[in-house]
Amino acid sequence: MNSSIRSSVNSDIDEAVNSLQIGVHNHQEQLIQNAEVLTSDFGFKQAVAMADKATLSSMLSNHGQRINAELMFILDLSGNIVASSAYDMTWQINFPYETLLNTALIGESFSSFFVVDKKIYNIVFLPIKSPRVVAIAGIGSEVTESTARSLIRNSELEITFIRTADLFRDPIVFSRSSPVFVSTLADGEIFEATIAPENIQSLFRLPFQQGQQFASRYLDSSDFGTTEVSLFLTENLSPIYQRFEELVNNILIITFVLLVLTVLGSFTIARTYTEPLIRLLKTIKKVATGDYEDQFQFKAKSIEIDGLITGFRKMTSDLDQREKHIRYQSSHDLLTGLNSRDSFIQILNEKISDNEYFELIGINLTGFKQINDSLGMDIGDDCLRVVAKRLIEIAGDEHVSRQSADEFMLISTGQDTSENLAEMIFSALSQPMLFEDVTLTVGCRMGITSYPDRASDVHQLIRRVSIALEYSSAQNLLFYQYKDGDDQAHLKKLTILKDLREALRNDDGQLQMFYQPKMNLVTGNIEKAEALIRWFHPIEGFIPPDLFIDLAEKTGVISLVTNWVIRRVMADIKKLQSSGVYIQFSINMSAQDLSNEHIRKLLETCLEEHDISPTDICLEITERDMMVDVEKSLSLLSYYREIGFLLSIDDYGIGYSALSKLALMPVNELKIDKCFILNLASNKDDQIIVSSTIKMAHEMGLTVVAEGVEDQTSLDWLKNAGCDMIQGYYLARPMSLSSLIEWFEHLERPKKGLLRS
Ligand code: C2E
Ligand code: CA
Ligand code: CA
Repeated sequence: MNSSIRSSVNSDIDEAVNSLQIGVHNHQEQLIQNAEVLTSDFGFKQAVAMADKATLSSMLSNHGQRINAELMFILDLSGNIVASSAYDMTWQINFPYETLLNTALIGESFSSFFVVDKKIYNIVFLPIKSPRVVAIAGIGSEVTESTARSLIRNSELEITFIRTADLFRDPIVFSRSSPVFVSTLADGEIFEATIAPENIQSLFRLPFQQGQQFASRYLDSSDFGTTEVSLFLTENLSPIYQRFEELVNNILIITFVLLVLTVLGSFTIARTYTEPLIRLLKTIKKVATGDYEDQFQFKAKSIEIDGLITGFRKMTSDLDQREKHIRYQSSHDLLTGLNSRDSFIQILNEKISDNEYFELIGINLTGFKQINDSLGMDIGDDCLRVVAKRLIEIAGDEHVSRQSADEFMLISTGQDTSENLAEMIFSALSQPMLFEDVTLTVGCRMGITSYPDRASDVHQLIRRVSIALEYSSAQNLLFYQYKDGDDQAHLKKLTILKDLREALRNDDGQLQMFYQPKMNLVTGNIEKAEALIRWFHPIEGFIPPDLFIDLAEKTGVISLVTNWVIRRVMADIKKLQSSGVYIQFSINMSAQDLSNEHIRKLLETCLEEHDISPTDICLEITERDMMVDVEKSLSLLSYYREIGFLLSIDDYGIGYSALSKLALMPVNELKIDKCFILNLASNKDDQIIVSSTIKMAHEMGLTVVAEGVEDQTSLDWLKNAGCDMIQGYYLARPMSLSSLIEWFEHLERPKKGLLRS
């Protein structure tokens, strides 16, 4: 736009220049013709020759009036004014004498623009011949606004004549001094027009911005004979702006309309496609996590996406069905529909976490093997189905499971006594069953245990129920109820002791030492660790120390165990020290160990062999062991204390012995039994016992260790109560030496063990 308007303005001006040249030429021709009438007049020539000023003046003024020339004068050949029409001779004209005279002397006319008495004139000079050139006549017509307009008659442009001396002044000076000009423009616009460039810079202007108002071309008036007057042709740009701005407005309107259409379009696309797609994606992610319930229950406006949603809905419901089926198969016994072993363990765990009393009954069918053998598997299967049905009637299908071929388990949460329950089950199962004319009966034996009094976790429950079941078979009873100690007795029966001896002798990795760190509550440092034995039996799996230690103590095998433990722990201490960790180690000792000469010797030789200080070792002896024979304990413990070992009272609180008596012992540490600590966070009674124990133990100069800390709340509580150290799963579970070394490596520096160089 800019450049096309620019060139159209330029060509407007070009045209105006042409028109001006023609206009000026015509005007001058006119003047010349009119003047020639006078200069060829004989009387006039005579008056010139006689230099008759009065006659000349009146002739000039008469003629001037006739031809509408405001200025008429005569110059002699030196350029002096000899006579003039109306003026006295005081005014001056700056003639370009040389050009003028030379032109006149060869008999030609000369014309140009001049300023005379602050007015602009178009003046024609004509030679007066008689017959040679005797003088020069000047005929001037004043350039007025209307003359100016008529000079560019065919053009829309404005024209300005201005005295060259007034050009390009300061606008203020320009307005205050009295510049000489004639213009078709309004007075106020003239200065701006004379300084306006011909080329348009830019038509775009901000609101309230003025912009370029004119485009002007400066015409050197030497084209017209003198330089005294300058000419400007000016185009007013306002109409162009108006057109341009209309265009801009149209573009803005179109842009706005397009914008609105685009936004509407985007909304529509979002509503139809994007939103449902995003929702679909979210739902798919949800489904991927296994949540199939009521998914894809929405519609989309687009047919394609709706199809997609329907497809997904169908797919998820198929998946759901299949998964449910698989889950059912994996958690149920396919023959009877009862819970499988695994899912039953889960159910037991849920019951345990509810922490309510229940009984677990193991049921072994008697006479089933004969049925299977003599009547065939099909009848056998039918028989099992009937048994399952009868058990479900008693306890509900949630509470019954098939464990193996003819073994079932049942959970009872009812009020019945164990005897009643056993009778009830037996009478239900021993009802005759009728299959294709065959009437059958089966019998059963049962083993019973209960939670939480006779077992504390799932594995104990199942093991103890099996033990009870075995007892009932072995003793030919209808049912046997598990009693405390049956577990150990059972293990004994399993020749566990024989295996233990073998494991100790072969030292083939079945037995290992694990270490459980203890933390100083004041400093946060890990200063100690307790050595705990672990037995990974190749057949029985992990056997908890509770089980075999007790057994070993009862049978005198404990010294062998302690012997093995001491050697291993001492070697491990050395390894740990060489990895840069110096902490104190606790070893559990039984009463028998303390009085065992061999163990004493071993402790001393091991200290020497590995260059370990006795103060690096703490011996833990249970409260119960100490109190069996107070006198003996006192002397034994003093002996160890003198060597430099630290001594600790283990499992304090369950032996019900007076702390005052215990304090007689040369001990350093008191470990509060974990049964007071495990529920410390919630049990007010435990809190009272523990806080008073801590106070008393401190009064007796003992360090107090709380064992079995399983949560932050208990830890915080103990810290507040002034307990010195804690040990428990919350800090760390017992772990192998290599894990312990690694564990220390991951500890933050300040919590690390006491480092000694
Ligand atoms: P203990 O001497 O009272 O050992 C602490 C027991 O508490 C360990 O059980 C330990 O794993 C457990 N314990 C530690 N923190 C927590 C906790 O936060 N929550 C719970 N629920 N338990 C925690 P572990 O290792 O099964 O040992 C049981 C017992 O077997 C020991 O009781 C100790 O009397 C005996 N024992 C273990 N190792 C040896 C040994 O090398 N020699 C001898 N003579 N007896 C040992
Ligand atoms: Ca202990
Ligand atoms: Ca303990």
